[in-house]
Amino acid sequence: MLTEAPVKQEHYGREVWTHQAMDNLRKTQCLCRSCGRLKPGLPDNCAIAGKLYEICKADDVAMSITRCPDWIATPGSFVSAPCGGVKWQPSR
Ligand code: SF4
Repeated sequence: MLTEAPVKQEHYGREVWTHQAMDNLRKTQCLCRSCGRLKPGLPDNCAIAGKLYEICKADDVAMSITRCPDWIATPGSFVSAPCGGVKWQPSR
C-alpha cells in the first residue's frame, strides 16, 4: 500500500501520475544509472536497458531497476552506506 499519494505532473508533454519520492530516488538509486553497461545510442548498449527504455518511451512510464544480474560499476561509482559512503571498486 502506498504511504505517499501520487500527484499529477507533466513529463515529456503528457500529464502522468507521479510518485514523487520514488521518482526522486530513481535519479540517484537506479542501478542502470550507475552501470558500466548503460551506453545509450552505442552499439554495445545494454540490451535489457534498451528494452526497458522502449517500454518507458512507448507508454510514458518511468522505472527504477533495483535488481540485475549483469550490473557493473562505473569507474568512481559510490555505493551509499549508513556510515557515510564506501568507494566501490569494480570487480570485472
Ligand atoms: S546491466 Fe542491468 S543495471 Fe546495467 S544497464 Fe543493463 S539492466 Fe541496467
